[in-house]
Amino acid sequence: MGLNILIVEDEKKIAELLRDYLEGAGYTVVLKERGDQVIPHVKGRVPDLILLDIMLPGMDGMEVCRQIRRFSNVPVIMITARVEEIDRLMGLEFGADDYICKPFSPREVVARVKAVLRRTHPVEEEKRLTLGSIVLDEGKRLVTIKEQKLRLTPIEFGLLKALMAHPDRIFTRGELARSVSGYEFEGYERTIDSHIKNLRKKISDQLPDQQIIATVYGFGYKLDFPSGEDS
Ligand code: CA
Repeated sequence: MGLNILIVEDEKKIAELLRDYLEGAGYTVVLKERGDQVIPHVKGRVPDLILLDIMLPGMDGMEVCRQIRRFSNVPVIMITARVEEIDRLMGLEFGADDYICKPFSPREVVARVKAVLRRTHPVEEEKRLTLGSIVLDEGKRLVTIKEQKLRLTPIEFGLLKALMAHPDRIFTRGELARSVSGYEFEGYERTIDSHIKNLRKKISDQLPDQQIIATVYGFGYKLDFPSGEDS
């Protein structure tokens, strides 16, 4: 599942860090470390987006980008350590879609990738919510954690979707009940509680150390997801 991203970066640690974050956000990732590997690879199978470092062995990223543009409009995000290159990269000669300056935070890269893909693949991106390693695909009605499929009931799926769509919001039980459309709840407070309990159990089977759904006493529920892992 997931859109395909090609990362071209010869610094192994950076490449693997980016891969881990992007896979965590639900993308399928291929790594290449040499510039001259890119054109044959892309001609074989065009990815949905390319993250392209400039300083590469074999062929530099600028030349790679220029050659890609001769046959494909695949979105390219350039990675550069030199701010003075940016205007040229984004210009007609190279035609990059965005750029990222080194040093960067992996979260920033994921955000940029999502922003570019929202422009180029609006349907797929709108239908997908991600929270760390949890990916909810509305179109496929599928939730995965670390690429493991979660077996959810339609009500559990609807509850998780509501919470993930508004990660900072506190929901009352009534709001959660209404967000799961098509179901009538009798005495919904206790019903919601038991669905949330089941949902928590299924999530904690995959993420044993994390309580993703917090109870807000006197109000209801909200997502509680650890942030700042990379800061
Ligand atoms: Ca490099």
